[in-house]
Amino acid sequence: MLSLQINKNQFSDLLNLNYGVFLPLKNFVNEKNFKNILIKKKIGNKFFPIPIFFGVKKNDFEKIKNKDEIKITYKKKLIAIVQIKSIFKVDHKIYGKKIFGKNFRKHSYYIKFKKENYAFLDFKYIKIKKKNLNDKNFVSPKQFKKKFKIGNNNKTNLAGFHTRNVPHTAHQWIHKLLIEKYSKILIQPLIGQYKKNEYLDEIIKKTNLIAIRTYPKKKAFYIPYLSYPRYGGPLEAALHAIVRKNYGCTHFWVGRDHAGYKNFYSKYASQNFCKKNQKKLGISIVAQNEPFFCSACKSIVNKKCQDKNCRNAKIIKISGTKIRNLIKRNKPVPEYLMKKEISTVLNKKAII
Ligand SMILES: [Zn+2]
Repeated sequence: MLSLQINKNQFSDLLNLNYGVFLPLKNFVNEKNFKNILIKKKIGNKFFPIPIFFGVKKNDFEKIKNKDEIKITYKKKLIAIVQIKSIFKVDHKIYGKKIFGKNFRKHSYYIKFKKENYAFLDFKYIKIKKKNLNDKNFVSPKQFKKKFKIGNNNKTNLAGFHTRNVPHTAHQWIHKLLIEKYSKILIQPLIGQYKKNEYLDEIIKKTNLIAIRTYPKKKAFYIPYLSYPRYGGPLEAALHAIVRKNYGCTHFWVGRDHAGYKNFYSKYASQNFCKKNQKKLGISIVAQNEPFFCSACKSIVNKKCQDKNCRNAKIIKISGTKIRNLIKRNKPVPEYLMKKEISTVLNKKAII
């Protein structure tokens, strides 16, 4: 039987779909769902913002186009035996325009999308090798809810926080706000991508756990979100909200330019889109101004201080890039940017 090797991103999508992370979507989209999501943002009558598809390159397409059953393997291990229901094509330009906006042709991830997805596969599982459908960085919604006793009809609020970063003072300001307002927080960093200039997965995990230990007991949880960035702006931000709802969150923080890419989306597009669709998403969206540092009262705020000493004070942006540049040069990180207990575990080896 022909075996089709999948990559890391496809593997994570497959894993997430199988364990209910993308519900109501349970399988990779078929042609009808693909188009309905792009055009109506719906599967059946349920809201869904972005298609989770199984794409194949042209050479793989040639190999599988006349096959009935094939094996899906990842890192040489069998993941599933599947029966091909159909192989279909989608106009790349429509996808580009809907997801990345009118300048889609210049979006690097459109170019990548076009190159990697000659056609799309709709298949049915004949057999899934559960033992191999696993990853050390994957925790299913069911496992998480059981471990931390998060009920489906739980009256306690749980606010989700998405990140790809080591927490700096602005992140921690948000964490504390979410705990204060909604009682509990789930810090769920996107794990599983290896991009130059970003922190290693292990460092993201370690430092977020350090932050959690400084919060009131049993108020903050950490688990990874094993996936990859799609740079799809507002639509991807909405997917992130759906993921957190499936993990039991009642609220979700959407950041400024959440899931953004260069200047393809306006600063507040993600916040506005998610807020507007929060009913359909089934989770409350928390969208506030980004916190900054006020140099007069030396505190983190997200609105200009009203105190007269502060009114004309300089406000300092808390930027992850600025911090990474200091770390790469082995320079100390000032405490107004990052707490000492976190910056001390970082050095240039923490960054890819
Ligand atoms: Zn101030």
